[in-house]
Amino acid sequence: MEMEKVVIIGSGPAGLTAALYTGRAGLNPVVIAGPQFGGQVSLTHEIENYPGFPGGSGTDLIETMREQAERFGARIDMDVALSVDLTNGSPFRVKTGNREYLAEALIVTSGASPRLLNVPGEKELTGRGVSYCGTCDGFFFRGKKIVVVGGGDSAIKEALFLTRFATHIDVIHRRDSLRAEAALAERAFANDKITFVWNTVVESIQGADKVNSVVLRDVVTGETREHPTEGVFIFIGHEPNNAILSEQLKMDPLGYVLTDKHMQTSIEGVFAAGEIQDPLWKQVATSVGQGCAAALAAEEWLSQRERVSAPTSTSAAV
Ligand code: NAP
Repeated sequence: MEMEKVVIIGSGPAGLTAALYTGRAGLNPVVIAGPQFGGQVSLTHEIENYPGFPGGSGTDLIETMREQAERFGARIDMDVALSVDLTNGSPFRVKTGNREYLAEALIVTSGASPRLLNVPGEKELTGRGVSYCGTCDGFFFRGKKIVVVGGGDSAIKEALFLTRFATHIDVIHRRDSLRAEAALAERAFANDKITFVWNTVVESIQGADKVNSVVLRDVVTGETREHPTEGVFIFIGHEPNNAILSEQLKMDPLGYVLTDKHMQTSIEGVFAAGEIQDPLWKQVATSVGQGCAAALAAEEWLSQRERVSAPTSTSAAV
C-alpha cells in the first residue's frame, strides 16, 4: 500500500475541482469515484446556471471536468469508498471494494442523495414506477400520466423535463406556494402539461408490481383520495452521504460535515467540500468553489507539514 499525498472521495463538481487543483499542485491525487461517477450533476439533463457553460447536459460538464483534472495528473478509481479510518490522524486509511489507500490528506466530497418520502409502497415500487431521476427514467413514461412530488428547484426542473415524455404531470406540493426560483416556477405555470396540486401530501403509493395510483391527503381539509398515476417522481431534497464517516467527523444535526472557512473538518488534514458539508446552496458553482478552497487548503496544510518535518540546514550538517 503506497502513501498518497491526497485522496478525494467523490467525483462530483467539488471532487473533480479538488482533483484539478491538487493535480496542478503536483500532488498526483486519487479520486475514488463513488457509486455514480459525477454525482448528481451527471444525472441532470441540462445545466444552465454554471458560468462559462451556457448550456448542455450534466454529463457533458462532468466529462469536461474529468478530462481537465486528468490532464494534470488526477487518477480516477472507478470504485466506491466503503470505509475510512481517521482515528489516528494522518495518514488516513480509505478502503474500497478492491484496495486500501493511505492518504496524507483527505478531501471528502461524497455529496448527498435524494430524500425518501418514507410512505408505504415507496421502497417496494422503486424502479417499478417510483423514481428519483427524470433523466434516467423519463423515457419509460412516454405517453403516461405521472406525478412529481416536491416544490423546490429540483421538482420543478424535473417536471419541466418530464413534459417531454409524459402526457400530463400533477405536481404534488405540501404547501400553497413553491420554493423553486421564480424563473423555473413561471415556466412551469405556463406549461399546459403541468397542473399543481397544492397543500397535498402523498400518504401511500399503490400497485402490485407497478404503480397504478397514489393516495393523497389534503393537509387543509384532511380529506384523502386515490389518484390514478403510472409514475411517481420524488424530488423533496437530499440527505448527506455520510455513512462511511461513521461519526468520526463533527456534523450538524442534519448530518452535514462541519468545516471552517478553509474547508477543514474537525480532524486536521481532512477537508470537505460540496453537498456533504453544504445544507444551503448546493449549486454546481458553489461546489466548484468549495472544492477549489479545499484543495488549496489541503495543499497548504501538506506544505506546512513538510516545512516543519524538513531538517534545518544546521541540523542537517550536524
Ligand atoms: P429543496 O430546495 O430542499 O426543496 C425540497 C422540496 O420538497 C420543498 O418544496 C419541500 O417543501 C419539499 N419537501 C421536503 N420534504 C418533504 C416531504 N417529506 N414531503 C413532501 N414534500 C417535502 O430541495 P431541491 O429542490 O432538491 O433543491 C436542493 C438544492 O439544490 C437547492 O438549494 C436548490 O436551489 C438547488 N437546485 C438548483 C437547481 C437550479 O437549476 N438552480 C436545480 C436543482 C436543485 P417546502 O417547500 O414546504 O419545504
